[in-house]
Amino acid sequence: MIVFGGEIHLKKGKEFSIQRNHPWIFSGAINLVDGELNNGCWVKIFDSKGNILGYGHFQEGSITVRIIAFGAHEPDQNFWSKKLKKAILQRKITDLPSSTTNAFRLIHGEGDGLSGLIIDFYNGVAVMQAHSYGMHADRFNIANALKEVLGDELSAVYYKSKSTLKNADDLQDGFLVGQAETPHVVLENDHKFLVDWVIGQKTGFFLDQRDNRNLLGQYSKDRSVLNTFCYTGGFSVYALKAGATFVHSVDASARAVELTRKNIELNGFDSSIHTCTESDTVSFLEMNGADYDIIVLDPPAFAKHRSAKHQAIKGYQRLNAEAMKVIKPGGIIFTFSCSQVIDRQLFYSTIVSAAIQSGRDIKVLHHLSQPADHPVSIYHPEGEYLKGLVLYVS
Ligand code: SAH
Repeated sequence: MIVFGGEIHLKKGKEFSIQRNHPWIFSGAINLVDGELNNGCWVKIFDSKGNILGYGHFQEGSITVRIIAFGAHEPDQNFWSKKLKKAILQRKITDLPSSTTNAFRLIHGEGDGLSGLIIDFYNGVAVMQAHSYGMHADRFNIANALKEVLGDELSAVYYKSKSTLKNADDLQDGFLVGQAETPHVVLENDHKFLVDWVIGQKTGFFLDQRDNRNLLGQYSKDRSVLNTFCYTGGFSVYALKAGATFVHSVDASARAVELTRKNIELNGFDSSIHTCTESDTVSFLEMNGADYDIIVLDPPAFAKHRSAKHQAIKGYQRLNAEAMKVIKPGGIIFTFSCSQVIDRQLFYSTIVSAAIQSGRDIKVLHHLSQPADHPVSIYHPEGEYLKGLVLYVS
């Protein structure tokens, strides 16, 4: 049973976005609060006339409520398992999991109607990350529902929210269900990867580049590839398996460089065809960027907040202009931005500015995005965060 901390009553006219299934209620939309609301508690949401609009998690701050159940129907004890089953069914449509891919995103926040929750599935291990106190408060209910719904397919649930919820007093990362050793081997399109959710970034692996890595593979045969911001070497492994003549991976983190090396070995390649360098990407491009047929640019989010947008645009522009300037004639650039506040149009304009700055003749071959296991609710366009372009530089 769900225990409610109280009620939220909205100002007149503030119900419209909720009736259109947008899950966020900003503090300015609230007329009055009934009850003593603690961070993370469940609340019932009403319009100004007293009609029920839905149910969600309360949290002090600009997004005050995240709605996770729309309409009058009150969530029952099967709420979490129903949501999980729905998400699993949707993954099955795109053949996830399969005999060649056993790592995928099981819950993608608002895209799966669960604002504040990420669950990545790594070959039997679910890694759960809360981005709201409500999801933190419900972590055991979610873990139990995972157990119920996945049965034998689930060996462990690891909870990792220390980095996403800085002020939760009782917060500890660790297993909520079972145990599993790290690093843990997963398969992605038949490529092997080691995932370490304990020391790795985010939940341990960047699942959102799966389709784009495949596309890189299609271009890599008989070409040399520079994979910058390589992290655990996802793009590098695909390029090698597809027949690249040579792959060079670059990352500013020594740990990432080490993980990349291990993943290259795990897939049967060695230093005769792959090198890994710990370096800043722009400095590396300035010195060595002219040696490659393909360059991958997949930086971390340069803008994590709206306030950093301007600086971020300058960063993307500088990085891309440098790669465009140095790449061989006939070269191909895979360029990405995962900053949510930089939308597709702005990213495109930034790339156009970089192209002008480089003075090269450049064509767009592909527009890229996030894969189907990172769905975007049509009512929550903010959920689209990964943008990419494949550019041909003649
Ligand atoms: N392409 C990767 C994910 C990239 S995540 C994949 O497919 O898995 C971003 C990476 O950029 C991180 O590993 C981080 O260590 C690295 N990084 C951050 N700043 C950097 C810089 N200035 N130069 C090179 N790498 C950097």
